[in-house]
Amino acid sequence: MSSAIQRDLYGSKTLKNLASILNMINTSENKIEEIIKLDELPTFSDNEPNNTLEVFSWDYTNILYQAGDEWIIDPRCKTCGEAMFHCTHEN
Ligand SMILES: [Zn+2]
Repeated sequence: MSSAIQRDLYGSKTLKNLASILNMINTSENKIEEIIKLDELPTFSDNEPNNTLEVFSWDYTNILYQAGDEWIIDPRCKTCGEAMFHCTHEN
């Protein structure tokens, strides 16, 4: 991967920006985890979800997860702040 993409990726200013860069990375030859360190992606708020399993980044209202080769931004639960797929309480 070019250092320009790497610099853009780690210098992302918003979750949306990060997701779009991740979605542009060509993963036809390598798995994405062989190209970038997925556990070192930037995050965009200090209210870290309690459960970060499968959650790669977040801001105050959304989380970022991966489905196949696609990076998807999904709203956090308004009550508990967790990813919807980790929310366990009854609404
Ligand atoms: Zn919840």
